[in-house]
Amino acid sequence: MEKLAIHGGNPVREKKIFYGHQCIEEDDIEAVSQVLRSDHLTCGPKIKELEHTLEIYTGAKYAVAVSNGTAALHCACIAADIGYGDEVITTPITFAASANCVLYCGARPVFADIDPDTYNIDPDSIRAHVTEKTKAVIAVDFTGQSIRNKEIRDICNEYGLIFIEDAAHAIGTKYNGRCVGSLADMTCFSFHPVKTITGGEGGAVLTNKKGLYQKLILAHTHGITRDRSMMSDVSQKEPWYYEEISLGYNYRITDFQAALITSQMNKIDRFIERRKIIVKAYDEAFMGLPEIILQQEIPESDTCHHLYIIRLVQERLNCTREGFFNAMAAENIQCQVHYIPVYWFPYYQRLGYIKGLCPKAEEIYQNIMSIPLYPKMDDQDVEDVIHAVIKVTENYRK
Ligand SMILES: *Cc1c(COP(=O)(O)O)cnc(C)c1O
Repeated sequence: MEKLAIHGGNPVREKKIFYGHQCIEEDDIEAVSQVLRSDHLTCGPKIKELEHTLEIYTGAKYAVAVSNGTAALHCACIAADIGYGDEVITTPITFAASANCVLYCGARPVFADIDPDTYNIDPDSIRAHVTEKTKAVIAVDFTGQSIRNKEIRDICNEYGLIFIEDAAHAIGTKYNGRCVGSLADMTCFSFHPVKTITGGEGGAVLTNKKGLYQKLILAHTHGITRDRSMMSDVSQKEPWYYEEISLGYNYRITDFQAALITSQMNKIDRFIERRKIIVKAYDEAFMGLPEIILQQEIPESDTCHHLYIIRLVQERLNCTREGFFNAMAAENIQCQVHYIPVYWFPYYQRLGYIKGLCPKAEEIYQNIMSIPLYPKMDDQDVEDVIHAVIKVTENYRK
């Protein structure tokens, strides 16, 4: 058996590889340079162009580009009129922003448990947590896999809830052949560098509803409008006149970020194809390992694959999850854990959330880690990751 690097053996590779990385090409750089040479660094034509590109790609009627994915979620909560006294149901296995956006509005996030096979929010658990105070559901397409859209839509319809999809992982995913972005009342994207495509920072909210669209516009630009039909003082005729008609924020994206994201949109399908090929190689390599459980997919989801998660079967291994993680790092494969249950964080604990709320999520959190997955990985990188997982597994096999 090969000696583990953590025990003084040779690492599988010399150069460290991380769980995610952007893919920026010359034409992306050119697209940004053009904007930097132009008149508009912000509030210019590149933002509309990005919004239009997102509308065409997803089939959603309206897109609002914003400064990041967290701002997108906050704007969606504002547009949903979420406020003090409201409850919003979400998953604990997500980035903190999916729940923080509810707190920004003075409302209370309520955590539903996950499906132990797909790791996505379990519609039955959503239903069990609906109360008279529930205003909305924020469902996360964790790892890129679509949530059970129809079941969640049905619950939202039955109780009159607003359905927000946190699709930070899932631009390019389809559910029953339809693009994520056109399916919920509002869908939020992130363009952080580890996500499918990037603008450095960036985000967007998509909707099919004109009323929500108008509120999203206001939320991300100070609540200020120049649209006469929305003003309270319709008699005003001065050309400079505008009104602040609600409380909003400055969540604008810049034109150079918008140009970068639009340029990346040209290659999103190629990126996803590459991700799918890597996922297939991983699946085939790990399927036969009894020490590792692979994430299950619902047949409705044609997944863009943001993350690849391996779940350790502790009873079959002579190491902890941390031991496995550290052994992988010593092989120069830097994994990550997505995610620590949100309500475990000290801030949430101080708000009164207790451990044990979502037993399935907590149980799965103990055993998971994300291995590298991004389109710029070449075949050797993929082989190295597979090699390391098998090497570490075999060394710790009981
Ligand atoms: C990345 C991410 C966000 C936040 O996006 P930012 O652009 O980093 O603000 C929100 N939700 C999930 C699930 C994410 O992965």
